Amino acid sequence: MTKSEKLFERAVKVLPGGVNSPVRAFRAVGGNPRFVSRGMGSHIWDEDGTEYIDFVGSWGPMVLGHSHPDILKAVQTRMMDGLSFGAPTALEVEMAEKMIEMVPHIEMVRMVNSGTEAVMSALRLARGVTGRDKLIKFEGCYHGHSDAMLVGAGSGALTQGEPDSKGVTKGAAQDTLMAQYNDLASVDHLLNANLGQVAAVIVEPVAANMGVVPPQAGFLQGLRSLCDKHGALLIFDEVITGFRLAPGGAQQYFGVRADLVTFGKIIGGGMPVGAYAGPRALMEQVAPCGPVYQAGTLSGNPVAMAAGLAQLAILAAQPEIYQKMERAARFVADHLRASARRYGIRLQVNQVGSLLCPYFTQTPVNCFAAARTSDTNLYAKYFNQMLFRKVYLAPSQFEAMFVSSAHTQDDLEATVRAAEESLAALV
Ligand SMILES: *Cc1c(COP(=O)(O)O)cnc(C)c1O
Repeated sequence: MTKSEKLFERAVKVLPGGVNSPVRAFRAVGGNPRFVSRGMGSHIWDEDGTEYIDFVGSWGPMVLGHSHPDILKAVQTRMMDGLSFGAPTALEVEMAEKMIEMVPHIEMVRMVNSGTEAVMSALRLARGVTGRDKLIKFEGCYHGHSDAMLVGAGSGALTQGEPDSKGVTKGAAQDTLMAQYNDLASVDHLLNANLGQVAAVIVEPVAANMGVVPPQAGFLQGLRSLCDKHGALLIFDEVITGFRLAPGGAQQYFGVRADLVTFGKIIGGGMPVGAYAGPRALMEQVAPCGPVYQAGTLSGNPVAMAAGLAQLAILAAQPEIYQKMERAARFVADHLRASARRYGIRLQVNQVGSLLCPYFTQTPVNCFAAARTSDTNLYAKYFNQMLFRKVYLAPSQFEAMFVSSAHTQDDLEATVRAAEESLAALV
């Protein structure tokens, strides 16, 4: 029995499913999760000492790779002066200033502790300022686990939300309307059917929680126009895309302005951090300035701010990182396509910036329904073949492959070799 197996045996007795977040479980791919003992650059090691090339990167935060010396140093230095005060610290001001400097169209920031919290708070703000109750989200987009956002698929869901999880009340779900990604007509229809009632349209500017689905030309611009026409706020959930697609996130990358933006993952540098941001007039509606209440004991925690700020400072100072990551992701995507062609495997590889996803389907993937055509059993086999060859991928078809700036040409070549062999093993 490996150490990971022994740990998992203990874990399932004391943690539901043996994990603290369901995406870490290996249920979709079979086998036991690897317990990670350490990470350095683009590599992680499990408790048994096996070294992997890591393409999960903590689901996005580790955009500079693991254990970046500047980030570790910032944390070490800061922690010597105390871990939390519940009173303002200089680092919170610096963090907000840095974010505002890097991201277009935001003038004020509120720090929170997770992406879930950021989205939940931004939605409350949108409802508070518009005086409207309803929200539009897209099928297959993930916005954290707050009640209003745990509404997903179902034929009735296009007009009326159905909860995705037990414990979410109909009341909480009924104000969430479901549109189809890359389908402006579905949004137009909902806005017209609920005239003057929609507070906000929330979207992942690149959908990265159903694999990776890029917005088609005109989709985000179209959302901007529809929101303007109907007086609804456009919220970009940039918990993944923020500081990843570009220093200024999706607003910069696609040239489309959002009214509110949510962040998480990268801005914590590996620590638990989230934030929501927008123009002054909107953000000043948040307590203690305005009537929309939102608070947090550990929000803006100095050690977390030190880690996040150190990471953002590097991204701001070295914008060439973005071209490097994009080239790396394109290299992997191109090789995956070529290998799949060689073995006659139906594979669609979507790639935007440093995000990519191979889908085992012949259908081009531009929405949730298309993503669902993927053969998830084949993905599970591919995942295990890759793991055997020491490449650590997300244990689910419907997640992105995250490239970091720490991935070297050697890593990439080892990865595409492993993929070539893994795909060959599937036929
Ligand atoms: C991960 C994620 C969230 C939730 O963030 P947590 O920190 O896990 O709560 C929200 N939105 C998007 C787009 C995400 O990818």
